[in-house]
Amino acid sequence: MKELSIQASNHLYKVHIGSGLRHSIGSLIKGSYPQILIITDSEVAPLYLEDVKQSFSEGRVDTAVIPAGEQSKCMHQYEQLLTACIENGLDRNSLVVALGGGVVGDLAGFVAATYMRGIDYIQVPTTILAHDSSVGGKVAINHEQGKNMIGCFYSPTQVLYDIETLRTLPFYEIRSGYAEIVKHGCLDNPGLFKDVISRKLTSDIQEEVLIDHLLQGIAIKSAIVEQDEKEKGVRKYLNLGHTLGHAIESEAGYGRLTHGEAVAIGLLFAMYVSREKLGADMPITELYDWLEQHGYPLDALKSLNSSHLIARMKKDKKSSAGIVNMVLLQKLGEPTMMEFQDQELNDLLNHFQEEVM
Ligand code: NAD
Ligand code: ZN
Repeated sequence: MKELSIQASNHLYKVHIGSGLRHSIGSLIKGSYPQILIITDSEVAPLYLEDVKQSFSEGRVDTAVIPAGEQSKCMHQYEQLLTACIENGLDRNSLVVALGGGVVGDLAGFVAATYMRGIDYIQVPTTILAHDSSVGGKVAINHEQGKNMIGCFYSPTQVLYDIETLRTLPFYEIRSGYAEIVKHGCLDNPGLFKDVISRKLTSDIQEEVLIDHLLQGIAIKSAIVEQDEKEKGVRKYLNLGHTLGHAIESEAGYGRLTHGEAVAIGLLFAMYVSREKLGADMPITELYDWLEQHGYPLDALKSLNSSHLIARMKKDKKSSAGIVNMVLLQKLGEPTMMEFQDQELNDLLNHFQEEVM
């Protein structure tokens, strides 16, 4: 088992990564909790819920299962889960366990953050993408008008990552999670970037390699979050690839592409803009070829209307007064921010489509 510590504003928490950890969640937890609520989704429940439940030898353990998918990060499920907390008699000394991917993590974390003004919760991530979402303490639900519109900063007390659970992920979810690892490499570790894009995700990722990639991704994210938990400065860099990525995700319709698939296209665009505007030497062809080899849906951009995408980018939480703020790279490992007016962004997007895609 490997571990890493993360300093949040008011506590230090540990991330443990290992094989088969789900069988020992109960004994790995620090502190004792008389009452536990495990929150998971309908796809993860039949695979891992019983193992996690059985790992607790003391305390009363209740479970709540939400429908799998992004649509569960909503007011209705949030309210249902608060009702489950009340009906199961959870109090300030209780623990919420978020067992699943980023959807369960964000939603269960927000429930824990707000129930009785905040109770402890741990993250038990089961997707590769959740190496990103389970650390850093951002928890949220979506509003009809936009993603993650209702939320807060609330860090878990522990993250217990059983990489054995990743074996049941469909390939497109592996691809999705790896886009965020590639992003982390671009931000702060060119070696990680180069290592990932030199591998085939199907055959060249043995367990030790996967643990190493996840740990490096988490280390990069946590180093940034430790400097700027509330996103006043450097944490904005974590949005590399997300300005266009989020626009693609919502314009295509949630569920058509995974989050990471959309971010992968956004990363290519960020590299292209970095080359055009900053003269940066960017491995655009190398990244494009690797994404294409792994079936990332690069064609998705062609079917989307550029002006709709720009309008969505202007509505992004990171944009203000109609000016789009994008994270660019001076070189691999050196992010920077740049502002764009919509006409310039529109031209860049059109040229990107012609020259790269
Ligand atoms: P997800 O939680 O929807 O999981 C993807 C799919 O895989 C779901 O259908 C799920 O049921 C299934 N699944 C999960 N684990 C499985 C397993 N081990 N085996 C088989 N199937 C499994 O999505 P995700 O990609 O993990 O996370 C995306 C969410 O994370 C988005 O809502 C995004 O906004 C959020 N996010 C949050 C942060 C943050 O800092 N809080 C960062 C990045 C992303
Ligand atoms: Zn992301």
